[in-house]
Amino acid sequence: MTIDELRDALLLKKENGYTRLTAQQRKEMEAYASRYSAFISACKTEREAVCWAAAAAEANGFRPVELGMQLHPGDKVYFNNRGKSILLAVMGTDPIKDGANICAAHIDSPRMDLKPNPLYEDNELAYFKTHYYGGIKKYQWTCVPLAIHGVICRRDGTTVTVTIGEDPTDPIVLVSDLLIHLSADQLQKPLAKGIEAEQLNILLGSEPLDGEGSDLVKLNILKLLNEKYGITEADFHSAELCIVPAGPCREAGLDRSMLGAYGHDDRVCAYAQLEPILNLEHPRRTAVCVLADKEEIGSVGISSMESQAFEYFMEILCSSQGARLTECFLNSFCLSADVSIAFDPNFAETCDPRNSARLNHGVGVCKYTGNRGKSFASDASAEVMYKIRTILDNAGVLWQMATLGKVDLGGGGTVAYIMANRNIPTVDAGVPVLCMHAPLEVVSKLDCYMAMEACKAVYHS
Ligand code: MN
Ligand code: MN
Repeated sequence: MTIDELRDALLLKKENGYTRLTAQQRKEMEAYASRYSAFISACKTEREAVCWAAAAAEANGFRPVELGMQLHPGDKVYFNNRGKSILLAVMGTDPIKDGANICAAHIDSPRMDLKPNPLYEDNELAYFKTHYYGGIKKYQWTCVPLAIHGVICRRDGTTVTVTIGEDPTDPIVLVSDLLIHLSADQLQKPLAKGIEAEQLNILLGSEPLDGEGSDLVKLNILKLLNEKYGITEADFHSAELCIVPAGPCREAGLDRSMLGAYGHDDRVCAYAQLEPILNLEHPRRTAVCVLADKEEIGSVGISSMESQAFEYFMEILCSSQGARLTECFLNSFCLSADVSIAFDPNFAETCDPRNSARLNHGVGVCKYTGNRGKSFASDASAEVMYKIRTILDNAGVLWQMATLGKVDLGGGGTVAYIMANRNIPTVDAGVPVLCMHAPLEVVSKLDCYMAMEACKAVYHS
């Protein structure tokens, strides 16, 4: 064999996905990108994503799951877990004791939550106190247009939905940063200390009500909120209000090859697994889509991947066929669909270039996450890696291997270990992201499209 033939026969080919994309795929990719763009622009919290998914499920023939219901091949059901997480399934023709094909993603993203007593006035300016949620670089959240999303359960028992800052005619809110002119001391601090957690205060207003006494700016804000939402200050005690970046997803790059938005992590994978299950008809194996909350704070609590809500849902599917849940888990397969790190030439020193996912090289398959010596990693076995590799190759999905940066530099986690702890063979795969956890995250359209194709392939496997 010549050297060229040997190269061809033996070496792994790493190719930019654009060299392999067909004209038809390119068209589908653009259409998918605009559908995803609409979803990510509309869904900035887990609640909004659940609302969206539940409405889409209903529109596509899914019924709410009920204890003791009879299920037949092709039946479509979903479980809306208190508006914070959602599970969908399409019953397969194979018995469920032989296992389900599961895709699991999370729909929460880093942000700032309001504290229980949020509203205050300081030097004739009104603010909300916040408590950041998930891992953020705090300085990134200053001087960017912010919106308020959430719900308030009012004294009278009704719940009102709040969205301020998304309509172009809405006002935005913000966290101020210190002007450069007075920043001599601030600029000497490490980045992590430049803006501290208790400085993440949301500027809300500056106009005092006409009258005597203190806190007239705060009172004016409360009056406005009362007029619009019928709330009093005490209602903040039964509210979930989130501060998120304002504005829609935008095409990024002069060539429009990327998408810039808040919350790609992990709603880019949530949408990638949601869309194909909505259109899935009569799969061989039962297909399950899990959109979980609270991954960004450790997957704890009632709406997280740890929650027994998963067992509750799966048990209903199993008991309709007299199957054991543990047997179903044993024979299932799970794609933990979460974003991975995209190699950033601006910070090349942070990644092992031979083991980094790159924009436009397709969905990134991650054998293990974790940190240091693979601590807290769900390390997929060779057999599981063989399985995902075969599924993706057979379906013509463009994919690459991903790792979470240089060893000992940091790391991360996903819901993979939680599914694996349930005795379900699990592997991570997802869209490579630039500026993860920043107010503006960037993904490539090609990788988004391939992530959706990957989830589709898992459902059909
Ligand atoms: Mn994630
Ligand atoms: Mn994350």
